[in-house]
Amino acid sequence: MLPIERGLEIVMSLAKSKDRPDRMSFEPVRLTDALRRIVREDVIADADSPPFDKAIRDGFAARFEDLAQVPVVLTVIGESRAGAGTDLTIQRGQCCEVMTGAPLPAGASAVAMVEDTERLSPNSVRVLKGARENQGLLRRGAEGRRGEIILRSGRQVGLADIGLLAGVGKAKINVSRKPRVAVVATGDELVEVDENPNTDQIRNSNTYTICAQVTGAGGEPIARGIARDNLDDLRAKIGRAFDHDIVIVSGGVSMGKYDLVEQVFAEFGVEILFDKIAMKPGKPTVFGHRGETYVFGLPGNPISTMVAFHMFVRPLILFLLKAEDTSPKVLVAKLESPAKCDPERAALVPALVRFDAGQYWIKTAPWKGSSDLIGLSRANALIMIPRQSGILEQGESAQFIFME
Ligand code: AMP
Ligand code: MG
Repeated sequence: MLPIERGLEIVMSLAKSKDRPDRMSFEPVRLTDALRRIVREDVIADADSPPFDKAIRDGFAARFEDLAQVPVVLTVIGESRAGAGTDLTIQRGQCCEVMTGAPLPAGASAVAMVEDTERLSPNSVRVLKGARENQGLLRRGAEGRRGEIILRSGRQVGLADIGLLAGVGKAKINVSRKPRVAVVATGDELVEVDENPNTDQIRNSNTYTICAQVTGAGGEPIARGIARDNLDDLRAKIGRAFDHDIVIVSGGVSMGKYDLVEQVFAEFGVEILFDKIAMKPGKPTVFGHRGETYVFGLPGNPISTMVAFHMFVRPLILFLLKAEDTSPKVLVAKLESPAKCDPERAALVPALVRFDAGQYWIKTAPWKGSSDLIGLSRANALIMIPRQSGILEQGESAQFIFME
């Protein structure tokens, strides 16, 4: 059995060896669709930011020397409002009424806030509280310069980036094409969500969690139905999934008599690179490739599938997207309950984590094993316990990943 890290290395080194510039191309998307996508161009500012000297307070723009000694009465020579331009010049003893976002008149070097003034007449104001040089204003280019790279290729578009891109006129942006991921569930006992199971049947939930995980990782899921546990149906449903970037088959990869997925992979010429990982849950995780297509067989138990996806498929999708950061984000918390590990396998234990007094605190969540979605839905994290570490006591530190 392979340790998790070794399995991940195999997945990633295969991906690196297949990586050709033309393989995962990019596509333009509208800015409204760009959130969380991976940028595939260096984005350059088309103007200084801000593009003109501007007021960032509502108030009175003056020469800062005149605002050093207060109270002071200044002559109001006009106003500058947002979007209206100005050709005024401020001399000693003068000021100009300004609004936030308005261009600053020439000669002005500070803005007194309107709250700190008393209007005496249409053309005079008393300033009660002073302002230092450059207070209440931003000089042209103070935030960034025209021609500067403001977002680099490989960056995942965050919320502030959306505003930034809008600010530099990027109505469209090139982002990585989403890897297309075919998802096939297997099992004679499965019925679809909108069907009523008989007493010996259950609803297919893996297709939905896997598709959601694919979407969450930035891929495009394509649900390919349920294959029954016989060679003909498996061949038919798996066979037509290979024209995707990634194929995920759930279930049918353990030691049971009707676990036939690996056999069908072999018939289609899939080169299997591993089929067991020393982790709990998720041991019967299968990975290989067929030509350009990456192929996974994930264990059927709902939690096992989810965990195996997180550990192996998600990093691959992120790699294909050319994201800067592909590895699962591992954090450290203090244990509020003991957690125990299997000697043979690394454990991933559903847990509840919270942040308090400057650190994460974590405790194991009640759950009844790898089919217990009710238990997992009450958890928000997985504690990661290396194999052979025995029992981790309350108060010890433990690694965890968020799983929400
Ligand atoms: P298997 O790996 O096929 O032996 O399945 C292991 C367990 O997971 C069995 O109890 C299955 O009923 C269950 N299972 C398999 N596939 C699914 C699925 N798509 N949705 C929910 N449970 C499943
Ligand atoms: Mg099965």
